[in-house]
Amino acid sequence: MERYLTFSHWCKEHYGRRLYRAALSAGMTCPNRDGTIDTRGCIFCLGGSGDFSVAYEGKRMNKEDLVFNHREAEPGDYIAYFQSYTNTYAPVERLRFLFESALEDPLFAGISVATRPDCINEETAALFKELRQKYPEKLIMAELGLQTIHESSALWMRRGYSLPVFEKCLELLHEADVNITVHVIIGLPGETKEMMYETVRYLNHCGIDGVKLQLLHYLKGTDLGYLYEKDPDSFHVLTLEEYTEIIAECIGILNPDIVIHRLTGDGNGEALLAPLWSKDKRHVLNMIRHELKIRNIVQGCLRND
Ligand code: SF4
Repeated sequence: MERYLTFSHWCKEHYGRRLYRAALSAGMTCPNRDGTIDTRGCIFCLGGSGDFSVAYEGKRMNKEDLVFNHREAEPGDYIAYFQSYTNTYAPVERLRFLFESALEDPLFAGISVATRPDCINEETAALFKELRQKYPEKLIMAELGLQTIHESSALWMRRGYSLPVFEKCLELLHEADVNITVHVIIGLPGETKEMMYETVRYLNHCGIDGVKLQLLHYLKGTDLGYLYEKDPDSFHVLTLEEYTEIIAECIGILNPDIVIHRLTGDGNGEALLAPLWSKDKRHVLNMIRHELKIRNIVQGCLRND
């Protein structure tokens, strides 16, 4: 038994089995890249994190079509994870076609849609609500890349929207009654540990269902990677010890009913410049477990709200 609420535990409670994300790319772009907001993208972005995704056009899929084909998974144990770029950045009719196609596919127990809060409007929220009502037994999840609540960091990373936009998006998604998961980045330059904890504390009051905690990766091919290679000493890259301490604290702060989908990233092996210790994901997770154990932290035990 983990000291925090894992996604697999939550799935077993709600669906009686473990579910696996199957990363899909529906050929979308992002307003932070196509010039609508910016052309450069977020400073750390290497193309919308769709490195292991399969092109999806709405056709029925088989287990064998997926990049990660879990041996123990049966058809129906996968979630169609619309991962690459911004997956609500298209006309609503196209979104309806893609999402409904996945929800009708027996391979999938639901959909998870990664997007930006400024790309959820009344129309997309109404579509989510419609799908929620039409497929009550399926999981319908929206994943929002917030990363931080601090405007200084949001400006630095070129996120392209402010916190009230995120709050408006939450209102719409709550009305649609979908599962909401929020992505947070740990280790943004200029953020103190306390600033990271403030982001997590804030999320406790947002009525969200899950978080993904992700270490900031410095990747070759991104603007951040370029700046880092030019002058590595100007960045404080977290050590493994610092990261495990921060993650343990975040777990202690988070409401015990918020699912923690991720405690570190997979990184992009080839492109990763720093921190190199993050390549050994198993070791990182073991270190976090050890930190939780020696400090006797369980999820929610450090809440002081
Ligand atoms: S919003 Fe996502 S896809 Fe768009 S630039 Fe930022 S990280 Fe990349």
